[in-house]
Amino acid sequence: MKKVLVLGKIHDSGIALLRDTGEIVVKELAEHSEDIFNELSDTDAIIVRMTKITREIIEAAPHLKIVARHGVGYEAVDITALSEFGVPLTITGDVNSVAVSEHTLALMLSLAKQTVVYDQAVRMGNFGIRDGFDSTELSAKTILLIGFGRIGKATAVRAQGFGMRVMVADPFVSRQNVEAEGYNYVTDFRYALEEADYVCIHVPKRPETENLISAEELKLMKESAYVINVSRGGIVNEAALFIALNEGWIAGAALDVFELEPPNLDNPLLKLKNIVVSPHCGAFTEECAQRMAMACAQAVVSAFEGNFDPQLVVNKETLPDKSARG
Ligand code: NAD
Repeated sequence: MKKVLVLGKIHDSGIALLRDTGEIVVKELAEHSEDIFNELSDTDAIIVRMTKITREIIEAAPHLKIVARHGVGYEAVDITALSEFGVPLTITGDVNSVAVSEHTLALMLSLAKQTVVYDQAVRMGNFGIRDGFDSTELSAKTILLIGFGRIGKATAVRAQGFGMRVMVADPFVSRQNVEAEGYNYVTDFRYALEEADYVCIHVPKRPETENLISAEELKLMKESAYVINVSRGGIVNEAALFIALNEGWIAGAALDVFELEPPNLDNPLLKLKNIVVSPHCGAFTEECAQRMAMACAQAVVSAFEGNFDPQLVVNKETLPDKSARG
């Protein structure tokens, strides 16, 4: 029997796929559980949501053959250590771009249509709030997408469907590819900040993308503009965002992700009215949770058979040595 450690809640369908092989024992642990070190000595595979996979964890798991990340971001995994030990890290690939891009549009619509503010007002008896005419339209507005990968592209299609003008900033994508889709290419997102009505972040978290949107960038935006971060906390600097929202540099913001998750209840951003928040749930639709769980489980089952989808392996240099451990 092989043992799979599942860190954090995944959809039951993924657990069933593993157990139905009849050859796999599944051990589920809560996210960030301290018990992890009691489980590693006989673990063959790890499925991980948000728990940090550190060098210590990898060293304590001598039979580890795969770490399957439930999602696409992997900044919480020590990829250098994994590669050193010849352990492939897989991601789920393009299974969550629909969910996350729909969530991006949902947040944008919440801001444009004031849905949270109006909901609370009606419950408080303030039906007349509608006479403020604060609701706006997405149509004919400009969206700036920073990052044009799976989720950025899926958001572009949806924004265009709403009649928006789409601008794209991604130094790793060619102008030709962007323009072929009917979007406007910008060489540096900073040049487009003063034009954008909505600035949406779809880049991975890396040292070079931390604080990508900070005071300097927020000052370049229009007073009527909104910033939306569905990528990772810390790419938009929260302290700078608070000042920008509080002092009216920009009209509002939406965050699905935070520098600290969950955010402290005394996080000053949560006291503001011109921000809409959600609990890092962009990918957690019923459908997407199922797709991600099944993708992770399938990657693990395949890895036990010695098979990997190279498209989904982050540290491809581990593939030739995949039989080196355990
Ligand atoms: P992806 O790898 O397909 O695309 C990322 C894009 O960002 C790439 O095209 C890359 O060239 C671009 N990029 C990198 N650095 C850049 C920079 N400095 N400026 C502009 N562009 C840059 O990834 P994806 O599947 O589109 O996901 C994007 C991010 O969304 C993930 O890394 C993850 O952090 C986040 N995410 C969030 C949720 C959620 O629930 N909120 C779910 C899934 C993914």
